[in-house]
Amino acid sequence: MDKQLEKLISLHDLDVMIADLNRKDIRKRETEMGLHAEGALEELKELREAFCKNINRKWRGLYNQLTRHYGNAVVPALMGRCAGCLTRLPTAICSDPDRNLKIHTCPTCGRIIYWAD
Ligand SMILES: [Zn+2]
Repeated sequence: MDKQLEKLISLHDLDVMIADLNRKDIRKRETEMGLHAEGALEELKELREAFCKNINRKWRGLYNQLTRHYGNAVVPALMGRCAGCLTRLPTAICSDPDRNLKIHTCPTCGRIIYWAD
């Protein structure tokens, strides 16, 4: 898999974790359990910042732009469709065994696509 693509997927996972920690219901439950959601959140944000430095500026810019617009920038292809907007993806890309070796974006919504297989 393309190294930048791997990092973008991990960045997306980090952002999901940060968004979860930001949810008030989860924070409340963790506080009740004696966990420190606040500390964990700060740590994750620092980790995210350090992680971003390893991502090519072009892809980082696109990632941030897509996240602002859609909330999720990186989506899997499911049954030949973009999981973000459900557009059918070009067959030539889907059937290419090396499809994860470069970064593809959805021709309709522009989200970054990967194939989990
Ligand atoms: Zn799409």
